[in-house]
Amino acid sequence: MKTPRFFTLGLSLALAAGALAPLTAWAADSKPVRILLLDGQNNHNWKATSPVLKQAFEACDRFSVDVYTSPEKGANQEAWSQWNPAFSAYDVVVSNYNGQLWPDNVRAAFEKYVSDGGGFVCVHAANNSFPEWLEYNRIIGIGGWGGRNEKSGPYLYVSEGKVVRDTAPGNGGSHGAQHEFMVELLNANHPITAGMPARWLHAKDELYDSLRGPAENVEVLAYALSDKSKKNEPMIMTLSYGKGRVFHTPMGHADYSMKCVGFQSVMLRGTEWAATGKVTLPLPKNFPGPEAVVSVP
Ligand code: ZN
Repeated sequence: MKTPRFFTLGLSLALAAGALAPLTAWAADSKPVRILLLDGQNNHNWKATSPVLKQAFEACDRFSVDVYTSPEKGANQEAWSQWNPAFSAYDVVVSNYNGQLWPDNVRAAFEKYVSDGGGFVCVHAANNSFPEWLEYNRIIGIGGWGGRNEKSGPYLYVSEGKVVRDTAPGNGGSHGAQHEFMVELLNANHPITAGMPARWLHAKDELYDSLRGPAENVEVLAYALSDKSKKNEPMIMTLSYGKGRVFHTPMGHADYSMKCVGFQSVMLRGTEWAATGKVTLPLPKNFPGPEAVVSVP
């Protein structure tokens, strides 16, 4: 071999150009994704759903999960002053919270965390929370109830393969009776949806419709047709906020909704993507198709 000098020079140049950076990134990504799961107040049964989320994450060695439960509704200022999520110690924050407005210092820390590049995941009624907190609504894109209306921003839906922003007046947030429904992909090339069937049946859930909000920097990856609004409602969304990545799904009303294999795959992949910008998790072999719901026991 007469290549050592060339090799050395090549390596030096590569080092100088930062060409080894992907190796470093790979090494970092091979560590578990650290999740902070927030709950403690919700008009839903968070005591039943948080364990389903935690178990789904922990069934996969890609994640570690710490649950941080807020003071209960009506707690005094003293209790709230003790509640201070260590956002920056985590790769991604998953919210199963819908309740009282967080204290100023927590809200400021959260905005800075996401804007500086932290990941955020918004599940179901977490998009009902905080109608009065503009930056939160910019982070989640769209939300429902709590007095949301045309002043909150447009409705967002999909029509003929295009995302529509509808500024018509009206309340934000609605749903009909729970039922199984078809999730249809709008973008099958995103890392979160790659390899999924174009249509798959989701377990019994509330199909949120007519959510509205700032809807900035949002991409709709999948939708479901609502019998109530007669619109294709966003079901899987990604957003950016500053340097941060956000994954938002309005699915996940109850523990049985969250036991859907489709929901869990979307949740795991969406969370990994929000944390790292990539998806390494394969789809399970029993991922549902359009014919039948598939749920974990
Ligand atoms: Zn619900």
